[in-house]
Amino acid sequence: MNIILLGPPGAGKGTQARHLVETRNMIQLSTGDMLREARTSGTEMGRVVANVMDRGELVTDEIVIGLIREKLEGDKAGGFIFDGFPRTLPQADALADLLSSTGETLDAVIEMQVDDAALVARITGRFTCGDCGEVYHDVTHRPTVDGVCDKCGGTNMKRRADDNEDSLRQRLMEYYKKTSPLIGYYYAKGQLRSVDGLAEIGDVQKAIAAVLD
Ligand code: ADP
Ligand code: ADP
Ligand code: ZN
Repeated sequence: MNIILLGPPGAGKGTQARHLVETRNMIQLSTGDMLREARTSGTEMGRVVANVMDRGELVTDEIVIGLIREKLEGDKAGGFIFDGFPRTLPQADALADLLSSTGETLDAVIEMQVDDAALVARITGRFTCGDCGEVYHDVTHRPTVDGVCDKCGGTNMKRRADDNEDSLRQRLMEYYKKTSPLIGYYYAKGQLRSVDGLAEIGDVQKAIAAVLD
């Protein structure tokens, strides 16, 4: 089973993707994570990507499609979760082509519906475990022991440089201009399933499970 998690920055895509990895042996393909890795590579591509990400703009379709193409050639396990991809119509078309060329299907597009007003608090409170990637929040999802990851015991918590209000506004603008048309696109294809992303994390997990089962 291959699915897309669709929603603005802070909607909870990464949080839900990690749960699906744990419970369904799926593979999370986060283009944001891949690009953050690329920017540390010291290559020319890494420098270009870093610049664009710091401005809160979208990286070119060519680069992200290339990253996804590579991953689709690897292990498929319980299927792929596309997290933060596609973000433009050309990316959506490219994904359809890539999947059909390997005989795979896209089984659901899960739209995580949230109020824009909730996103500032979501984004400015976000931190992650630098060792295992678990996603936390200052208010809604703190580790049991402050500074210590519940999942791996690591103490290397990280905040993203772009998780501030100014960058969020820019990323939200990009979302509305370029990504939100995908909601209509997948609706028209009969693949869109919407869940309430404002519910508690556990309830969102249940809503997504209900869609997938
Ligand atoms: P968020 O968690 O806020 O939704 P991501 O980690 O998915 O953010 O993405 C961080 C940044 O990486 C984006 O602001 C954008 O610059 C870049 N990026 C990630 N995925 C894509 C994509 N599919 N297409 C273009 N740019 C992307
Ligand atoms: P995205 O990947 O869509 O950008 P994240 O999964 O990183 O979003 O979540 C953004 C922030 O909101 C994180 O700090 C996360 O802990 C928190 N969060 C995620 N889902 C919920 C939820 N349903 N209720 C409250 N906070 C949430
Ligand atoms: Zn951890």
